[in-house]
Amino acid sequence: MNTNFDLNGLVRANVAKLRPYSSARDEFQSTGTEMVFLDANENPFQTDVNRYPDPQQRTLKAELAKIKGVAQENILLGNGSDEVLDLLFRAFCEPKTDNAVTLPPTYGMYAVLANINNVENREILLTADFELNISNILRAIDKNSKIIFLCSPNNPTGNSFLEEGVLEILENFSGLVVIDEAYIDFSKQESWLKKLRSYPNLVITQTLSKAYGMAGIRLGICYASAEIISILNKIKPPYNVNELSQRRALERVNNMEAVKQEVADILKERARLFEALLDVDYIQKIYDSDANFILIKVDDATKRYSELLEMGIVIRNRTSQPLCENTLRLTVGTALENDRLITALKAIN
Ligand SMILES: *Cc1c(COP(=O)(O)O)cnc(C)c1O
Repeated sequence: MNTNFDLNGLVRANVAKLRPYSSARDEFQSTGTEMVFLDANENPFQTDVNRYPDPQQRTLKAELAKIKGVAQENILLGNGSDEVLDLLFRAFCEPKTDNAVTLPPTYGMYAVLANINNVENREILLTADFELNISNILRAIDKNSKIIFLCSPNNPTGNSFLEEGVLEILENFSGLVVIDEAYIDFSKQESWLKKLRSYPNLVITQTLSKAYGMAGIRLGICYASAEIISILNKIKPPYNVNELSQRRALERVNNMEAVKQEVADILKERARLFEALLDVDYIQKIYDSDANFILIKVDDATKRYSELLEMGIVIRNRTSQPLCENTLRLTVGTALENDRLITALKAIN
């Protein structure tokens, strides 16, 4: 429990007093009878998508709530987790006054969103073994620090943070602790979702873009207290998740067996790829991965990146990231794709 947490003091004043836009579809309760919709200036002729989507995505949230074991009031959906992260900045960080704490090397969008929102980004490097530098983090925060972004498993390093470290942040920071769990389905660690009730300052983001195989539909998920969710609901665009995305997401989460099978296959391939990488002599280090990618350190990342590109294989060069000199990030593909990667890595020796 974090006793210093005060949500009212955290939210931006303009957001606190905001009266949200009330969309046509928000203003009535369905009576269940055959309804005639003449409220939203839609074209009445059927195209299958001539109606606005449900602004609260109730059907999809109900299914996610069941799968994840949380209440619907603890869920907000966004146009990718990138939208969810942006909403968090806009709800809680006053431009030019507040700051957010991010922990490089990590996901690049936190810094971009801080810049877009004109919010100071306080960067505290991870330790040499990519763990949280707790004392530096606690020293860097002040009364204007509103959010700390923890990405676990972390992109691009692939590790999950030690539980004790995360708990220490949760208990000692009275702003929001956002744990980005984009890769949680590949992790040995369990999700922080079970701790949602114990920590009112905990916000968790997940996505359908990685393990669920739905990057194209843009569906991000935010889990937090009902109070935090209702603040985010006030500022989100009314129809932020389109009808086609809601439908495709629903189909997918109704088929969790397929998702689990694909995750299992990817984990098997990750282990096989890891073994194969041990045989490539210019690879100096292979970092343990709790995600669907592997970070490696090579002799010359920029050279190896170009050589692979010439062979038609696109990976991510992370050499310019702090603590990541000469590293490359390899996404685990299908068995055939990984075979091509392994062959190419050996060929450019
Ligand atoms: C890929 C990724 C996401 C996904 O973002 P979406 O907008 O949901 O596609 C979020 N966080 C991290 C750390 C990622 O690597």
